[in-house]
Amino acid sequence: MALKRLRQLADAALQLTLPLFEPAAPPAVVRAGHRVLRLGDQFVEYELRRSRRRTIGFVVDDRGLSVTAPRWVAQSEIDSALAERADWVLRKLVEWRDYTRRRDRLAVRWEDGATMPFLGRDLVLRVCAGHRGKPVLVESTLQVGLAPEADNDQLRDVVQAWLQQRAREHFAVRIDHFAREHGVSPRRWALSSARTRWGSCAADGSIRLNWRLMHFPPEIVDYVIAHELAHLREMNHGPQFWSAVGELFPEWQRARDWLRGFPDDITF
Ligand SMILES: [Zn+2]
Repeated sequence: MALKRLRQLADAALQLTLPLFEPAAPPAVVRAGHRVLRLGDQFVEYELRRSRRRTIGFVVDDRGLSVTAPRWVAQSEIDSALAERADWVLRKLVEWRDYTRRRDRLAVRWEDGATMPFLGRDLVLRVCAGHRGKPVLVESTLQVGLAPEADNDQLRDVVQAWLQQRAREHFAVRIDHFAREHGVSPRRWALSSARTRWGSCAADGSIRLNWRLMHFPPEIVDYVIAHELAHLREMNHGPQFWSAVGELFPEWQRARDWLRGFPDDITF
């Protein structure tokens, strides 16, 4: 195959893996201490620090790309070192952007008018002073009655209690679905509010499901339930376990990857 054709294919593959980047356009304003470099068809802004280290180092994190280089290294050398690792840099930038987008999406602002992800859609929180009783969902608006002097913490407590009640109902329906369709059911199940786990399964045949899953799309909830139910058969993460997950929930790989993008330390 001609070299040109190979290069076109390589470019096309890079495009496919980077669907979130806008078409190339250099940033209008470059921050102090930053530089802009063209990598492939992207303009990448990075922070450059000079240090006593002996080699050029790259870090990509939620602040973007930063480069540390020895004082004596010329700018052209730094640029070509970056160009050599362009694929890695661009991939990491996309990964971090996905990660921070997801993190920001889940960080609910507990105030009137804020949006809250709920089973794959966005609900708007509306504080209705004077409205008594539990929150009421009207189409995509969650009306929350609070005393006029109530603060944001009280709004959070009331909405989270509502979410927990919805979680009890939703999980019961889905667990029942897996029991009817696949004949597998836990001995007991309970809600959890663990900070670092979406679900767990104990040796006595009981499972726990995090009510915060209600912030995710329904298929992600199903995946977590299927995952814990599969542990009733296989108490490990070996190949037989994953094939048991696949019987219960064929789309498990996509859901697992999606969930992996979430930091464990999300504070809702
Ligand atoms: Zn597991």
